[in-house]
Amino acid sequence: MIRSLGRLSIRGKSLTSVKPYSVSAELNRMKGKVAIVTASTEGIGFGIAKRLGNEGASVVICSRKDNNVQRAVKELRREGITVEGVACHVADAEQRKILFDTANAKFGGLDILVSNAAVNPGASSVLEAEEAKWNKIFEVNVKSSWSLAKEAYPNLVKRGGGSIVFISSIVGYKPMWPIGLYSVSKTALIGLTKAIANEVAGANIRVNCVAPGVIATKFASILTSSEDLWKEILPQIPMRRLGEPSEIAGVVAFLASSDASFITGETIVAAGGIHAHL
Ligand code: NAP
Repeated sequence: MIRSLGRLSIRGKSLTSVKPYSVSAELNRMKGKVAIVTASTEGIGFGIAKRLGNEGASVVICSRKDNNVQRAVKELRREGITVEGVACHVADAEQRKILFDTANAKFGGLDILVSNAAVNPGASSVLEAEEAKWNKIFEVNVKSSWSLAKEAYPNLVKRGGGSIVFISSIVGYKPMWPIGLYSVSKTALIGLTKAIANEVAGANIRVNCVAPGVIATKFASILTSSEDLWKEILPQIPMRRLGEPSEIAGVVAFLASSDASFITGETIVAAGGIHAHL
């Protein structure tokens, strides 16, 4: 379905035409830093790994399927990025341990955690959803983010500080039908950001969050593959287009960098102008 996104257009106007970003040669904000980015073999996570790597970070990427990990590692190395990859389902504690062990063994520590994984198993109304669906969404989207932050914490303290970035969503501010449960899990991440930020500020650790709008990835196909639904959503986006993974990656890189040294507990909305209400 993502394959059709590139050609998605309404009245002949492409919805994905954005100028490709380029990282200026001077932008070396991540030099010497080590970053873990979860769910990073495609989509937004891959864009974040690429951006942090292009800015000089050594990056550990992961996703559930080893073949995806191998492919993404190869692609990033072709760009000259220092990267290792591990198969890790973020809800699996043993696999998460391998993630942190890899950062320590290969790159000597950890400075940045980007918790990006999320699931949305199908569309349904909130009150008609099965309990199993609630459990899965909250297990992966919220509990795994909390676990990753908890496990990253001692590693960041060892480095004298660092940065955590959660990936929420615009629907965390304004629940959207038919993805209401997923929306609520993303609201929880905005709260988690503030709660952890308060606790770890004294350890020189900043915790922030990005709330993307509709971004051209496989994940968004639940909204973009139905022409009727998409026709309802598009007028709500003032910029009248999908975002690109690189446009979220730029915000994450800013938050993880020293340019954001006085920002913590914050969520930045990158949604083409959709208003965020809470
Ligand atoms: P995507 O293009 O579908 O990419 C998903 C990535 O996550 C793949 O690399 C996948 O690889 C990996 N993955 C899936 N489940 C995983 C798990 N349990 N553990 C580890 N890796 C896992 O998705 P995306 O659009 O980039 O979404 C990334 C984040 O942005 C999510 O948190 C999503 O909620 C958020 N977001 C997306 C949009 C949007 O419009 N796209 C908008 C707002 C927020 P494997 O299959 O190999 O695991």
